[in-house]
Amino acid sequence: MAHAYREITLIIGKSRIGAAERHSRPVVDPATGETIGELPIATADDIRAAAETAGRAYEQWRKTSSHQRQSILRGAAAALRARREELAWTITTEQGKPLAESRGEIEASAETFEWFADEARRSYGRIIPSRFPGNRQLVEIEPVGPVAAFAPWNFPLINSIRKIAPALAAGCSIVIKPAEETPGATLIAVECLLEAGLPEGVVNVLYGNPAEISEGLIRSPEIRKISFTGSVPVGQSLAALAATHGKRSTMELGGHAPVIVLDDVDTAQVAAMAAAGKFRNAGQVCNGATRFYVQRGVYDAFLAAFADHARAIVVGDGRKDGVQMGPLANDRRVLAMERFTADARRRGGGVVGGERLGNAGNFFQPTIFHDLDPKADAYHTEPFGPLALVAPFDEEAEALQRANDINVGLSSFVFSDSAKRQRRMIDGLQAGLVGVNTFTVSFPETPFGGIKESGHGHEGGSEGLEPYLVKKFVHVA
Ligand code: NAD
Repeated sequence: MAHAYREITLIIGKSRIGAAERHSRPVVDPATGETIGELPIATADDIRAAAETAGRAYEQWRKTSSHQRQSILRGAAAALRARREELAWTITTEQGKPLAESRGEIEASAETFEWFADEARRSYGRIIPSRFPGNRQLVEIEPVGPVAAFAPWNFPLINSIRKIAPALAAGCSIVIKPAEETPGATLIAVECLLEAGLPEGVVNVLYGNPAEISEGLIRSPEIRKISFTGSVPVGQSLAALAATHGKRSTMELGGHAPVIVLDDVDTAQVAAMAAAGKFRNAGQVCNGATRFYVQRGVYDAFLAAFADHARAIVVGDGRKDGVQMGPLANDRRVLAMERFTADARRRGGGVVGGERLGNAGNFFQPTIFHDLDPKADAYHTEPFGPLALVAPFDEEAEALQRANDINVGLSSFVFSDSAKRQRRMIDGLQAGLVGVNTFTVSFPETPFGGIKESGHGHEGGSEGLEPYLVKKFVHVA
């Protein structure tokens, strides 16, 4: 069923500021190229007001009990589920992914609210025995303070909730800037929180010029903590700015995940899993598989089966039944896919797919490059789209060397039926996440984060609450 695309507003305390009251820019449906809404652009005064509002709201919110925070976050999870169809339609309409994937994102978001609701109850300090008789030494836990968060467009809902949920659970207030391309989903999530009893001002939402908003917020004296998900260059510049102003940061930046397929596997099964894993969300997934290194003995069979699966994927408008892959979220990604493909063809690599589809919308074929020069652009820049690279290898050491020969280290994957071979790969891979015989490495209850230039800190798991907490040591004589 079609729903109306909601009005987009800024949220600053009790104020809702719409596009009629500010300069604005269009929000575009990536499947049709049509304008579906208008986005208000926050002014410098709005940015200041949002930071001040979060600062005031924090003084009250930090005093709420963990029971109360748990109850509000659980209520928000129920409210999200109650609005599932409207929310799924909104995510698909602004981002493009098939409705089934949007529904999966909503369930994972509701579970993330629930996970951090319960983590709020499990954040406690400790008592350290004193060296002096009669003295008490306590380690107390406190919220870090108001948070500035920046979430990208590939998962319009859960990217925001992975920041909002732990911040609120810890007792922090937050100003969040979701991506300008996908503004609707986060606004619905905030409505769910308010409906569940969250006081106004604890969550504030800004849209506009990303650099102006991030600079303005990071410089604001009220803001104590920065959380960013997005590209490596932007993340590094925000981390540097945060450090200059003495603020903590969590950075969830890009990946370029290797997949090592050893020659003892069921090749047909791994190829089917690879296609399902690779082309989910049209490949716009930071922990998505990109560089497939396949052992020589199963290389030809794997490549043929993987290519067959890729060709069979039904690409189209994510709102239509039977569609397995939607458009890319913005035309920058289509242009990037075209650049990678032109470079691969110029270098003489094999290309399966590689073409834009249709005359409207951002559709691109599920694409595989094989037997490509390792110097090709796609090996060094995260494709962030429906593009897989497949290459053969002979020895395990060679696969590990190629897998690790990159500046980032978010996720990595190994397929083998041998426990010994799995262990050698797990030990050798330089990444924050390793999937063994699976492409799933993200759950609400497990830590998610990268090494090398993929960033620092974690979202998810009990580790996901820690960045929002500080410790206070108390010595009572
Ligand atoms: P981009 O770097 O311009 O933007 C990525 C995200 O960061 C967007 O949400 C954007 O609004 C935000 N952003 C950009 N500049 C900012 C600033 N100065 N302050 C605060 N936020 C800012 O790139 P893009 O064209 O949107 O995406 C391209 C690349 O970004 C992809 O190739 C991918 O590598 C990366 N990306 C990563 C993730 C992820 O989940 N880690 C998500 C989206 C994009």
